[in-house]
Amino acid sequence: MASFDQILSQKSIFRDVTVLSPHYVPKELPFREGQIHEIMSILSPALRGQKPRNLIIYGPSGTGKTCTMKRVMEDFILSAKSKENKATMHYINCRIYTSRYRILQRVLKEYIPELEKAGFGLPFLYEKLLEIASNGEQMTIILDEVDVVKDLDDLVYTLTRSNDEIKRGGVSIVGISNKLSFKDSLETRTRSSLYESELIFHSYQSEQLQKILEQRAKEGFEPGVVEQSAINLAAAITSQESGDARYALTLLHKAGEIAQQKGMKKITDAEVESARKKVEMDLTLEAINALPEMNQFVLYAIANLSLSGSKYSRLEGVDNGMLFSGEVYEEYERACRKARKRARSARWYREYLNDLETLGLVVTTPSGRGIRGQTTLIRIGPSPENVIEILKKNLFSG
Ligand code: ADP
Ligand code: MG
Repeated sequence: MASFDQILSQKSIFRDVTVLSPHYVPKELPFREGQIHEIMSILSPALRGQKPRNLIIYGPSGTGKTCTMKRVMEDFILSAKSKENKATMHYINCRIYTSRYRILQRVLKEYIPELEKAGFGLPFLYEKLLEIASNGEQMTIILDEVDVVKDLDDLVYTLTRSNDEIKRGGVSIVGISNKLSFKDSLETRTRSSLYESELIFHSYQSEQLQKILEQRAKEGFEPGVVEQSAINLAAAITSQESGDARYALTLLHKAGEIAQQKGMKKITDAEVESARKKVEMDLTLEAINALPEMNQFVLYAIANLSLSGSKYSRLEGVDNGMLFSGEVYEEYERACRKARKRARSARWYREYLNDLETLGLVVTTPSGRGIRGQTTLIRIGPSPENVIEILKKNLFSG
């Protein structure tokens, strides 16, 4: 019989599970020493009382931008303290603070706690910012995920303008973004302010991911738990998909949980494979559950037909797994009938398809002439079995 004592007496294969969290900042950041050095060089004038150039850091998700910046910040604060220097650094996660007002409030709150209360106007906040900087303070404001800020042009304008109004001290901006296209969406004035210097983070290669995982496995698991081939596999899977170190670490973490649950002492390739399936399922589940109902019906139709196979593709020499837009619409109508819902018009159906494609759940291509006139060919992204398992519950139970 199961008992807590028995479970508690089992030795954990984890040594420190927090090390595997995406928020953990490891002491060493292999492959990012060059970037750390460069960012430090750019920001170092602040520690001499001069205003550094603004900086933009960009690169795909999971390339170490946030942890690199946090590492730089730790050293910056240490150095400023030892010099009794009036240089400060503020880290803002723009996913949480999404507007100019909230960001200014967040920064100034560190000086004037009462500002947290709502009701102070923007001009008041701005005056406070000028007051603080006029004391000779060099403020460096890090805006992580800066592309999320709603009124970014206004924010950048406000922060850079403050420099014209104060004689001593100043404000510099470090913006971090995952979006390579972000630059083009900015007003010219904002762009030239922000991009005084820029730094690109490239995706990790398989061997680099291996090293990163080895380092974390050493800190996160008991010695000898993680097999080398399991690490290599997790790195290979990740580099094939995206090169996102966060994904690689999630695989390792999940593989550990699976091994632990099975009462195993080791993590092998098999646990990494299961972890990959589990992570994929979780991501699919998250994406699908966020969809409005009618989009879910369309996706259900696509998954269903993908399993049974297109009626036409064999006849018309189209790639396996490709569906015709028309047959998907008919299947969508059938699914709606089954759930006693009214299917929407073909025009709406095309909108739903568009949404699904934006979320990466399907891929569509025009068929070109010749095949059933001109139509759209549709292929499902995630595994259709997973999709059906999730959607059956959402759409047809109850
Ligand atoms: P980004 O901000 O570019 O999306 P993060 O800095 O959040 O990426 O990194 C994602 C995860 O990968 C974090 O857990 C981080 O510790 C880890 N990581 C990224 N780069 C490295 C590296 N060079 N060495 C060790 N860990 C890394
Ligand atoms: Mg980040």
